[in-house]
Amino acid sequence: MSRNTWLTPRRHSRVIDVGGVRIGGIHPVAVQSMTNTDTRDTTATLEQIRRAAAAGAVLMRVSVPDLAGAESLKTIVSESPVPIVADIHFDYRLALLSLDAGVHKLRINPGNIGSHDRVKKILDRARERGVPIRVGVNSGSLEKHILKKYGEPCAEALAESAINNAQWLLDAGFDDVILSLKGSDVPMTVRAYRIVSDASDLPLHIGITEAGTLLTGAVRSAVGLGLMLAEGIGDTLRVSLAADPVEEIRVAYRILESLGIQKRGPTILACPTCSRTRIDIIGLANRVEDALKDRTAPLTVAVMGCIVNGPGEARDADIGIAGGEGEAILFRKGEAVARVKEDELFPRLLSLFDEVARAIGK
Ligand code: SF4
Repeated sequence: MSRNTWLTPRRHSRVIDVGGVRIGGIHPVAVQSMTNTDTRDTTATLEQIRRAAAAGAVLMRVSVPDLAGAESLKTIVSESPVPIVADIHFDYRLALLSLDAGVHKLRINPGNIGSHDRVKKILDRARERGVPIRVGVNSGSLEKHILKKYGEPCAEALAESAINNAQWLLDAGFDDVILSLKGSDVPMTVRAYRIVSDASDLPLHIGITEAGTLLTGAVRSAVGLGLMLAEGIGDTLRVSLAADPVEEIRVAYRILESLGIQKRGPTILACPTCSRTRIDIIGLANRVEDALKDRTAPLTVAVMGCIVNGPGEARDADIGIAGGEGEAILFRKGEAVARVKEDELFPRLLSLFDEVARAIGK
């Protein structure tokens, strides 16, 4: 999909390889998610990773809370279809064990790992293995001296913490650094990323942390990530939802697609319905969206209630319907192809979708 001209060109960042996925530069924004299973349960964790990968995740992060979790990583890394990022807090030994298990990236918050000696041990092992590190700072865990300087978590404090921590790694001769600085406050997080994007060429992992449940989190993430992406900020992203990781991936692609940056799978347009509607458009649109959620063909499907706006929208889409009295006109690439009774619409739309998808080799 071509980039919309109103978007600020992508910020220039250095390129970092994460297990074969290139992050930064002109490479596509890498969509990632995080498992919420017990990492020690390798079967459940791998099942979730596979479902997220099938939905479009190109990286998956796994938290490593203890030694047993680190031990499980060996199996997870060797069987995962996408590179694995180990999420480490507090204990540098878990980072070392994760590296030995073969993870493709580490996420650490150097501020909670302890002494510089311990962070240095992680850097040495990561360098040996060619594994990059994401320095991830959060508004909830800022260093005491920074909080004292600014009085409270704020954009400048987040940015300073991220830059200081990243600089420490760079000064130690470790260059493969990705940065993130997430807050749950959307304007603060966006401002913090703006500051860092001007101050550094490190690739940025963007996200709104603790965004909320599916609807709330999707909206908050769309606003925050949408603002940043429109300004050319963001090389990899995670939408954080209190939901299945697969939903995070779906929302991420909807955000990218809405900006015209990346597209994956079908786009379902639907009119909001009004008193002109004579068939169950809302029910049909939901059924169609659900039925097509795992399809990969990048087709646009318009489910429109009537002939006022319907034919125009339906004609612009790859396939569509414009509803009438107990029936609808079915369109394919702008051409009316059939008049279909309401109870046959759903299967007819699906079979037309598959036919058009086959025609484009999807
Ligand atoms: Fe109403 Fe027709 Fe517009 Fe749908 S397309 S909202 S039914 S006027």
